[in-house]
Amino acid sequence: MWPLFEGRTCLPTTNGSASCTVGGYSSYAVNVSNVAQIQLAVNFARNADIRLVVKNTGHDFNGKSTGAGALGIWTHHLKDIEYYENYRGSGYQGPAVKMGAGVQAFEVYAKGQELGFTAVGGEGKTVGVTGGYVLGGGHSPMSSLYGLAADQVLALEVVLANGRFVTVTEESDPDLFWALRGGGGGTYGVVTSLISRVYPKFGVTVSTFDFSTGKDVSVETFWAGVRSYLERFPTHADAGTYAYFWILPTGPNAFTFLMNPFFAVNHTVDEFSALVKPWYDDLHELGISFQPNTTYYDNFYDGWMAGFPLETVASSTMMTGSRLFPRANWDTPTSLNATLNALRATITDGFALLAFNMKAELQEGFTSNSANPAWRETLMHAITSTSWTNTTSDTDIMVKMDDLTKAVGKWRAVCPDSGAYMSESDIQEPHFQQAFYGSNYDRLYKLKQWYDPTALFYAPTGVGSEEWVVKSLDGLPDQNGRLCRV
Ligand SMILES: Cc1cc2nc3c(=O)[nH]c(=O)nc-3n(C[C@H](O)[C@H](O)[C@H](O)COP(=O)(O)OP(=O)(O)OC[C@H]3O[C@@H](n4cnc5c(N)ncnc54)[C@H](O)[C@@H]3O)c2cc1C
Repeated sequence: MWPLFEGRTCLPTTNGSASCTVGGYSSYAVNVSNVAQIQLAVNFARNADIRLVVKNTGHDFNGKSTGAGALGIWTHHLKDIEYYENYRGSGYQGPAVKMGAGVQAFEVYAKGQELGFTAVGGEGKTVGVTGGYVLGGGHSPMSSLYGLAADQVLALEVVLANGRFVTVTEESDPDLFWALRGGGGGTYGVVTSLISRVYPKFGVTVSTFDFSTGKDVSVETFWAGVRSYLERFPTHADAGTYAYFWILPTGPNAFTFLMNPFFAVNHTVDEFSALVKPWYDDLHELGISFQPNTTYYDNFYDGWMAGFPLETVASSTMMTGSRLFPRANWDTPTSLNATLNALRATITDGFALLAFNMKAELQEGFTSNSANPAWRETLMHAITSTSWTNTTSDTDIMVKMDDLTKAVGKWRAVCPDSGAYMSESDIQEPHFQQAFYGSNYDRLYKLKQWYDPTALFYAPTGVGSEEWVVKSLDGLPDQNGRLCRV
């Protein structure tokens, strides 16, 4: 997904005589099809003191599934999906699904469509549901209603660093059960499958539209339209909806707003229209014209297929940064203005905004877990990025990455006590322990020492990773180099 972490030794090229090396990819990988093979790979890497990397889809934004010279465990083909109409366990009785480690969002959603259930997975179509996604928290188009994907987990099967294969539940091992659900992928063991609670089918209204600065819409009018939207975030999230929107700088003093899409779970078109009416009224009053394309689907799968774009993988020369903006930023007009100004300043400086208006509260009766506490307060997960070309020098990439980290500093400044979502973040996030794990970090760190005393599992920005450094060959924060103790 991210050529940067490979060390850019092997970028796609039209030059047939170009040379390249494996770089930061694992030197060898076990294409696993059963648990015993994972146990053998874990024991072999531990006994031989070889770097070990767990890779599912390779989607991780921080290169956590990459590592030069490593032995890789590739979980992609563990595709079993089993549905239980009436599962009992961990204080829960009801429908649940068991998913192998390689199951991707589009696969479990399709199975749900066939058998009549809805699983809490990502908006991204190809994300590995049982891998880094759920282990890092996992936000979903259903999150405003049901919480994070990690909250849904009832049991996991895991190969530990000592090679033992265990079933982890609240009853069998509450500490590990807590740590695995949100503490990050590639940290405590190799999850071979997990069981998640699922929900009945429900209807959804999906709406897309856009508006831009132009002849009739001045820059100030555009931002007034954005402010009116921001004001509605608490109401929209509390109504159980999830909105994925972009604000793009399209030229000097030119901006476009894209709603892509507004995903209103459990809303008919009429209910959706009533929800957004105050915002739309403001837009009309401001003279901003827009043409929503709004459709009701009687099930999640069709709405999700129609609503979310298939996002680019494997061609990006870019890096991201992000922030979880807490509800407190909506408390007063002053704090809301500060939030808007921080976003506006970043976008005016040329950075695109991709953001989600949502909430992700732990539902009543659910077992608490190690997901970043900042998620529980959030009303907006905002992402921005920087990019370069295949020929940009390493020095210039580093400058761009530093600029990105500084740009996100404007967001940190308006919510310093919040954090960022580890799975869609900046690898250079300052004090990542606080940002990605919050008050859970100390407990997660202690559990890491207990379950993985030899630090077999290493992932950049993972729990305990501050004790290690990758001596990358080009000086960039990539995985193309030896992993050494600090
Ligand atoms: C196109 C795209 C769309 C996305 N959409 C969403 C979204 O809607 N919601 C959201 O929350 N996030 C989303 N993400 C972010 C995504 O959650 C992270 O990239 C996540 O790390 C992906 O997990 P993976 O297992 O697929 O990827 P990988 O890169 O293969 O793995 C990520 C991390 O998990 C570890 N890991 C993988 N499998 C296992 C396992 N079985 N046991 C233990 N550790 C394991 C790896 O070692 C690595 O540390 C998206 C990312 C992309 C690229």
